[in-house]
Amino acid sequence: MPQPHPKVSTWPIKAALLCWVLLIGLCGALLTAQYLAQQSKLDQTYRHNLRSNQQKLDYYIQLFRQQTHQRLISLRGQITSQHSSDQSSIANSERWWRNQQQEPLSAIEWLDHQGKARWQKGLKNSTYQQQWFQQNARFDQYKATIVCRDNRCEELSVLPLTHNNQYLGEIRARRTIDTLLHEVSLATELGIALLDAQLHPGIGWQASFYTPRELTQQQLIPLGDPTLLKSLTRQPQALSQITGSDSVWSLLSFPANYVQSLHLIARQTPSPIAIDLGARLKLNIGLCLLASTIIALIIWWLTTSFSRRILFYSELSPLLSSGKYQLVRERLGPLKDTRLLEDFSTLNESFNTLSYQLESADNAVEVRNQEMERLSLFDSLSGLPNRHLFQYEIQNDLRELRQHDREGIVAVLLMDLDKFKRINDSLGHQLGDQILEKMGNRLKGNIRSLGMVARLGGDEFAILLRSVKRVNQLDKICQKVLELVNKPLQLEDTTLVISCSIGVSVASVGDTYHDALKHAEIAMYKAKDSGGNGYRLFNAEMASELDLNLSLEGEIRRGFSEQEYTLYLQPKVNMQGTIKGFESLVRWDHPDRGILPPGEFIPAMENMGFISELDNWVLEASCRQLKVLEPLYPDLSIAVNISSTHFTEETFLTFLQSCLTKYPIDPSKLELEITETLLMENMGAGRAVIDKIKLMGVRIAIDDFGTGYSSLSYLKRLPVDTLKIDREFIKDIPDSESDMQISSVIIFLAKQLNFCVVAEGVETSEQLVFLKASQCDLAQGFYFSKPIPAHKAILMLESERIDLSEQRLV
Ligand code: C2E
Ligand code: CA
Ligand code: CA
Repeated sequence: MPQPHPKVSTWPIKAALLCWVLLIGLCGALLTAQYLAQQSKLDQTYRHNLRSNQQKLDYYIQLFRQQTHQRLISLRGQITSQHSSDQSSIANSERWWRNQQQEPLSAIEWLDHQGKARWQKGLKNSTYQQQWFQQNARFDQYKATIVCRDNRCEELSVLPLTHNNQYLGEIRARRTIDTLLHEVSLATELGIALLDAQLHPGIGWQASFYTPRELTQQQLIPLGDPTLLKSLTRQPQALSQITGSDSVWSLLSFPANYVQSLHLIARQTPSPIAIDLGARLKLNIGLCLLASTIIALIIWWLTTSFSRRILFYSELSPLLSSGKYQLVRERLGPLKDTRLLEDFSTLNESFNTLSYQLESADNAVEVRNQEMERLSLFDSLSGLPNRHLFQYEIQNDLRELRQHDREGIVAVLLMDLDKFKRINDSLGHQLGDQILEKMGNRLKGNIRSLGMVARLGGDEFAILLRSVKRVNQLDKICQKVLELVNKPLQLEDTTLVISCSIGVSVASVGDTYHDALKHAEIAMYKAKDSGGNGYRLFNAEMASELDLNLSLEGEIRRGFSEQEYTLYLQPKVNMQGTIKGFESLVRWDHPDRGILPPGEFIPAMENMGFISELDNWVLEASCRQLKVLEPLYPDLSIAVNISSTHFTEETFLTFLQSCLTKYPIDPSKLELEITETLLMENMGAGRAVIDKIKLMGVRIAIDDFGTGYSSLSYLKRLPVDTLKIDREFIKDIPDSESDMQISSVIIFLAKQLNFCVVAEGVETSEQLVFLKASQCDLAQGFYFSKPIPAHKAILMLESERIDLSEQRLV
């Protein structure tokens, strides 16, 4: 397979550019530093040269001026020698003129005290020279200056002729300054020019630039602004710009008392270093650019190959995650250039290995998934679809119902085996599982045609009835299911007959899975409440009953906060009619509905988990009551009903102990009534609690005896004190022969086993006579008294005491 061209990311080019910029910056900084250092060195040299050149100029000017002065003094000697007449003075002067040894003066003139020329030689004075001579005439001391015009500069000097401080006339001389310039030029080894900067009337500031003969170039430099001259003294390089040459210029000044606006410009041939400096800078910049670019290109090339490779691997990752392992391996292939990408060959191998490992892990997961899927949708015990699959299927059917893609109805049949918990506890879980498995198989084998059978958990099975078209078919189906379940079940060596309770719901359009199941559940519980082994179809009344229960919940909560529950007591009497104790029975003093018996709220409380709170309240109130009655009636006992769910809760024993501590009574006067069913259902846990209660000295009574399945011989093994025969066995005495037989046998056997026997629900004297004859210990019932409010108990006891004492008196 051809390798796809890997994408290129932009970061290598960015990195290269960044490097390039950084390198250039670095180079620039280094070059600038170097350039500045060299510049300052040059500057120093330049300043040094300037100083020494100025000193040389000062010296040669001094020398030049002295020469002129001396020559004029020597001429003055010739003119004013003591005996000389005018004629001889002139002859002396002529001789002096001819004998001039140095370069001859350009012109000389001898004037008398009236300013008339007596003798003169050389060129004629021009106007501007004449002006200077006239301005400086008749001074008593020597004066000299340099004046330039028309590319010629000459020293003008005047020496007064005096005798005895009397002014006799003066000598005026003109001398070319070429020798001066020549000597300065030789001494300084520099090209020399003169710059005469002065205000020219009508022109403004101008600088005339005189060059001596050696310097061929002649120029008039318009300065325009006098400040420029000043700046020139500070920055002679500026002159290079004005003159257009790259020479280094120094501006040297003449002494101010000699000449003012004249400057000497010395042109220094630039040193090779100075010339080099610029060129070398350019070269270095060029090299710098080149090197930076090359380095940046190398970086770009290197990073691009790395980046390409990294991108290549990053493109492989999604392939790995999408399970295209073979493709990954094909793309990986062998690395072409391993020199630079040595580490990548390891990565290549890792990817290769990873692809194999992931592939095998994927395969393993696939196998596991299939297994999981099977397990997650089916119940492992019965092999039937589980709750998830059942939900999925119902949801599908409900969707079809909504979309009118379905004929008929969606009906859910929920069945729960009756008393399965008890079967499980008594026969063991292994047999319990066998029952479920067999029941599952039975349903699967016989009902599959009706729809989908599922096990929702525990002993709960459900059927999604798909073959049903009309509601009126449901009764028949339920009957059929009941019969099927009722068929005897062969388990190892026992045969069991099991029943179930069935609830059926028919979904309306818009119902959810949860609605369908909840409705079936409500109906199923209704069937259970009616004694089991039956079925109920869900109807709207059941739902409103449910709503009623919901509103009841709120009221029950309020009952606690408003303390609406009150304690009632029902006496237990012996066969002589003496009150031996009471049973605590709770009542709800409902603000709207009046006094409510426990049957109307205890089941709801049990469902809500409030029953413990209620029981504890009754227990504490009973202990308080005992504590009040004990001093007067020390033999009196009180029995408290404890609900089965509460009895096995861990907190119960702690609460009981705290009550006994709070109300220190004889614990044997307190009796706890637990139902026979509780004992049977929670054998292990129940037994342990009973033992602990007995250790506290509290008595235990088995309530509603005869309704459950416990046998007397079994009870014998438990530390139980009292047996309360259920009202069911008493109520039909003396009409029912069998009830009388059963009751008397129970009483007889219980007495044999040392139980205290209490008969519940005694309403007639006949019943009492029968019980007395059967040697029952105590009786409780409306015949003696209905349950009375606790505060009335003491009155009842008192009136009985009076009755008894009256009887004794009689
Ligand atoms: P139980 O423990 O079997 O209580 C005896 C029930 O029989 C009482 O009903 C009582 O009023 C009634 N009874 C007594 N003598 C006669 C009679 O001669 N004829 C008739 N027809 N009935 C008689 P009650 O008070 O309605 O209580 C019903 C059940 O509520 C109790 O049955 C008990 O299981 C439960 N219960 C009452 N109070 C409490 C309590 O504080 N906690 C718990 N957990 N359950 C309680
Ligand atoms: Ca009771
Ligand atoms: Ca009872």
